[in-house]
Amino acid sequence: MSFDSLGLAPDLVRAVADAGYQQPTPIQRDAIPAALEGRDLLGSAQTGTGKTAAFALPLLQNLNDRVAQDPKLLALVLTPTRELAAQIGESFETYGRYLDLYHTVIFGGVSDKAQIRKLKEGVDVVVATPGRLLDLMNRGHLDLADVELFVLDEADRMLDMGFLPDVRRVVRALTSRRQTLFFSATMPDPIRALAETLLHDPVTVAVARVATPVDLVQQRLYFVDRGNKRRLLVELLQGEADGRTLVFSRTKHGANRIVKELGRAGLTAVAIHGNKSQSARTRALAGFRDGNIRVLVATDLAARGIDVEGIGHVINFDLPNVPETYVHRIGRTARAGADGVAISMCDQEERAYLVDIERLIHSHIDRVEDHRYPPTERLPAFTDLDSRRKPGGQGSGRPKRGPPRRGSWGGRGQGRGGGPRGGPRRGPPRRG
Ligand code: AMP
Repeated sequence: MSFDSLGLAPDLVRAVADAGYQQPTPIQRDAIPAALEGRDLLGSAQTGTGKTAAFALPLLQNLNDRVAQDPKLLALVLTPTRELAAQIGESFETYGRYLDLYHTVIFGGVSDKAQIRKLKEGVDVVVATPGRLLDLMNRGHLDLADVELFVLDEADRMLDMGFLPDVRRVVRALTSRRQTLFFSATMPDPIRALAETLLHDPVTVAVARVATPVDLVQQRLYFVDRGNKRRLLVELLQGEADGRTLVFSRTKHGANRIVKELGRAGLTAVAIHGNKSQSARTRALAGFRDGNIRVLVATDLAARGIDVEGIGHVINFDLPNVPETYVHRIGRTARAGADGVAISMCDQEERAYLVDIERLIHSHIDRVEDHRYPPTERLPAFTDLDSRRKPGGQGSGRPKRGPPRRGSWGGRGQGRGGGPRGGPRRGPPRRG
């Protein structure tokens, strides 16, 4: 099955090939043809399944067929978090590179000046979080009257984060003559009810949970003091992680330190991150691919280009502060149905990140209780963690995330919680 055969225009097929995708994922295979026909969609899929392209590609194509000379806001993608908004914006940039379409990303927590300027210049697509979108609508900076294509992404997380009233307000500003693509990893009753009000005779596309990348990876978690992480890493690399292993570090500096420490233990590893020259990165990747380098230590940004088969283990030396990053990281292993193992280390300060990750993947990562470096600090009982996982539960702080910083799009905010090793800062959920 190729992207061609889904009915996508050559400009989109070319952009997808540039992105290195060889074939559509199951959700793309099912969703794209239906969405191209103009049907409403009810998609049940979690992050990591390729769902962004499943809605972005048909949306771009439908829009490209329709777009008038003067740009009008024809499409709206609503998503719960700024990180997702930034990622979706990047996807539009990637997939729409050969099309003459304009889009922008709108989220809260940053100045609205650049966002308002972009809107004034005219865009065809807006990717937004609900709070800032409503704010700009109320102040007259954008009008949804012409929107013909509406995507609601991660509806269940909107519910978790208390955004459903805002979502309903946005929907009231849309006309009923529109195509709606609705995505949610789970379908609790309020989400099902919302879908019923929004969708007209939808095609249902579901990716069985068992087939998702996340589920193909065996995941394990070690609670460990920060000071013992390097020892634990050495032990893992001398033990079960004896094949091609990718180690993730949140910071460049951290990646260098890990490599040094491994060297002292007699393990050869190479770091790749933004401070390395392109030729050093290319060399490291080639070495990793051909087996000369067994252990690669990467930051999230540097790892984006890594598409290496046969990575047996992914080790999260640090937990990412953006939960989607966890899914992207562990998706580097268990490619093409092969077995893969993802081992994560979590120190006291990273516990809030763990809560976020488990909420996103809708599962509990197996804890390894019996190991050589148990944490010295008191561990919260599992019941504590469980109560924190419930929305609004005691201490259910989401880590605050700094604004994405790359260019006008912001990056994914991944891997650059770099700053001082202060650990997660906690705070109430940020409204978009
Ligand atoms: P998503 O579920 O949309 O967050 O996508 C998860 C990851 O899969 C992203 O890094 C995408 O770039 C990547 N991806 C999406 N579609 C494909 C595909 N057909 N082949 C390979 N990678 C893909």
